[in-house]
Amino acid sequence: MKIICIGRNYKNHVNELNNIVPTEPVIFLKPETSIILKKQPFFIPDFSDDIHHEVEVIVKINRVGKYISKEFSHKYYDQIGLGIDFTARDVQKNQKKFGLPWEKAKAFDGSALIGKWIDKSSFDDINDINFSLMKNNQLVQQGNTSQMLWDIDSIIAYVSSFFTLKIGDIIFTGTPAGVGAVKENDNLKGFINGDEFFELKIR
Ligand code: MG
Repeated sequence: MKIICIGRNYKNHVNELNNIVPTEPVIFLKPETSIILKKQPFFIPDFSDDIHHEVEVIVKINRVGKYISKEFSHKYYDQIGLGIDFTARDVQKNQKKFGLPWEKAKAFDGSALIGKWIDKSSFDDINDINFSLMKNNQLVQQGNTSQMLWDIDSIIAYVSSFFTLKIGDIIFTGTPAGVGAVKENDNLKGFINGDEFFELKIR
């Protein structure tokens, strides 16, 4: 399986990092080895002093597809979840400065937290999902999928023009404002519409 991530999909997050609002979706990948195993903490890697949390709504692909048109995108996923795209911001800043790929900053072991999944049908509207992240019981990020520059169906259509989507692939749909550093012993909890989707310790 593969993890396809969308960057810069919430304007307030684009602004907080002083990036330019993109004219087409920004895409990067994480390998299977980036996934944090069940009940494991996140271990801060030696190569970074500035690991940021990015809470994101995630989507699980349930059909093989290529060149999916937006009107049919909804047939290709049936589960919605919440995850964290952990980012070594110091490493990423350096990669950006030299125009280099982001994988060292975004695709390292443990960089993908995947919380629980729920059926898409439990939502009235996929484009109106409230989600949030609490760090040590304080609200640090909150967003609504209506704020995405590209909604889930548009993302699926776009990414499938480059990559064949396979069953079990996961899409991270981007983070809203409020990203920030984690440190040892922090506790992170993610919520969709008030329901807890994950709890994670930082080590
Ligand atoms: Mg992200």
